[in-house]
Amino acid sequence: MRGSARGFALGLGLTNECNLACSFCYRDPNRIDRLTLDQVRAIIDRLPVRSVNLGTGENGMHPEFLAILDFLRAQPVKLTIKIPKTTPIEVQTSVSKCRPSASNIIE
Ligand code: SF4
Repeated sequence: MRGSARGFALGLGLTNECNLACSFCYRDPNRIDRLTLDQVRAIIDRLPVRSVNLGTGENGMHPEFLAILDFLRAQPVKLTIKIPKTTPIEVQTSVSKCRPSASNIIE
């Protein structure tokens, strides 16, 4: 799928895990929910996605995060990622290697 055929802006919550506890957070800290790399692949294969935002939760705590990041970087999508300062440095380093079309937001 190419160009204008791709119209979806996709928000992915890879995990609800987080090492912070913001008072306004709506995640359930008593359970762990994760999307797998295969599930992310299935979504990208089936929807005409133009951009992906990885949001709520500490993405770096997901055991497949770097593999998912590698997969998404290889797709023709704009990628935005929100990661807190508490993200492990190796994850921040990997995120900073995103191709120029990607937008990385490090708070
Ligand atoms: S950083 Fe985000 S996911 Fe983590 S506790 Fe705060 S609001 Fe929730």
